[in-house]
Amino acid sequence: MTIYWERCSVCGRYESVRQCTLFKDLLVDIHCCILCVKRSVCPSPAWKITIPVKPVPQAREGLSMEEKKRLIDELTSLLEKPGGKKA
Ligand SMILES: [Zn+2]
Repeated sequence: MTIYWERCSVCGRYESVRQCTLFKDLLVDIHCCILCVKRSVCPSPAWKITIPVKPVPQAREGLSMEEKKRLIDELTSLLEKPGGKKA
């Protein structure tokens, strides 16, 4: 994909332009390309808006029921020991 720094064939502004996909003799800037009425039928708009896709952080796997029980047992045993009943 070639990017020129020329005049937009549509609005006449000096912008970075690309060759229009539908009308090969046109150079369009990003604004005109986005606003183009033919965009819905354009197979591949010269200016594509790409939204950077962030990798979705994988959900931390929860603890299994067994692990939870074990943890709770451990914690409660820790709580009971110090400061517990004085023998
Ligand atoms: Zn333009």
